[in-house]
Amino acid sequence: MPRPAHVRPEDWDDWRWHMRHRISSLERLSDWIEPTADERAGITATQGIFRWTITPHYASLMDAREDSCPVRRQVVPLEEECAPDLVGVVDPLEEVAHSPVKNLIHNYRDRVAFCVTSECAIYCRYCLRKRMVGDSDAMMRKSELNDAVAYIAAHPEIRDVLLTGGDPLTFSDGAIERIVSALRSISHVQVIRLGSRMPVKLPQRITPALTEMLGRYHPVWVNTHFNHPKELTPESTKALGLLLDSGVPVGNQTVLLRGINDREETLRDLFNGLVARRARPYYLYQAQLIGGTRHLRTSIERGMELMERLQGTMTGFAIPSYVLDTPHGKVPLTGSWVMGRCGDHVVMKTTRGTVWAEPNPRPLGDPSRPLPEIAMPEGAETIPTGAARFGEDRWVVPA
Ligand SMILES: *Cc1c(COP(=O)(O)O)cnc(C)c1O
Ligand code: SF4
Repeated sequence: MPRPAHVRPEDWDDWRWHMRHRISSLERLSDWIEPTADERAGITATQGIFRWTITPHYASLMDAREDSCPVRRQVVPLEEECAPDLVGVVDPLEEVAHSPVKNLIHNYRDRVAFCVTSECAIYCRYCLRKRMVGDSDAMMRKSELNDAVAYIAAHPEIRDVLLTGGDPLTFSDGAIERIVSALRSISHVQVIRLGSRMPVKLPQRITPALTEMLGRYHPVWVNTHFNHPKELTPESTKALGLLLDSGVPVGNQTVLLRGINDREETLRDLFNGLVARRARPYYLYQAQLIGGTRHLRTSIERGMELMERLQGTMTGFAIPSYVLDTPHGKVPLTGSWVMGRCGDHVVMKTTRGTVWAEPNPRPLGDPSRPLPEIAMPEGAETIPTGAARFGEDRWVVPA
């Protein structure tokens, strides 16, 4: 449903109007969709456990009658959130253990994630930080913000600061500028990054005043979070354009979600749609083990299969890295294309289903990472390279 007729266009364009008119009751939700019995039960069952709220902009993207709608499934609670899960996992990345000062996560030597707020404009059902979003204990006091900035200033190895949350763009421009300018005054901080889902859930937040301000503190990067091509609206396209035109490179992180975007065509349309808007797909995250998200998680095998199908069949830089975040850092979940070594050849799978054997004379001495020795696969045909020396032919096993 587009903007309702009773809402004035100037209100619809005003992000603060959306914040004031967020939907968080069954009654208001019924203005937008016909809630199913499962959704009604979900709203009751999750009360006091997991927050939910939806901006009118994001609500306007929901399909009123189709409850499998990928936008609806990201924000409307279901009773399954309270089903038995690997419960108790509220902090799967051990972020609390890696916090030297409140809400600052220093888990990589040269960069920190700084959770400046626990507020979001919407609460996604699969959220990694379900433990803290909307939690007033996780909110930062001014003195706590100063402590975090002081920690960064005292650690010259930190060259990249990621402002995250919650969503840092729930703050006013002035509050954001105070943090960004404090960081910019620290000489060893090279890169300031903002992680924000505003271009998706409340693109009206990306105003010329905001992007003009960010542009004064370069290099500033933004990572946003589109999960489905339905979220690529004219409003979000405009928001991305404003950021990019002010010199802010935009990356995108997607979470792989069962029944929402775990299809090849969906991911392809999403990633191509982002590139068409000059945003770079950066990570595809395996959904985290968070209590209340079992129904939204896929197997890792499913994610790997989807990535294999995208590889080689779309623009290279439209393909993000598929990763699992762990307390030991992010791990790329890459299928192995390289199968092993057969004498002077390295044998590999191709994205077209053939097997390729590339001449690559065995390294002298012991390679520090030897490949497994394998036999030349059956059916291999040689493709002469024209080189006379034995062992320099290439081989291919047709699909
Ligand atoms: C992901 C993450 C970062 C940033 O990692 P990049 O791979 O550089 O994007 C920094 N800190 C924490 C705690 C993170 O989880
Ligand atoms: S926007 Fe991000 S931080 Fe906020 S609820 Fe959604 S996933 Fe969590």
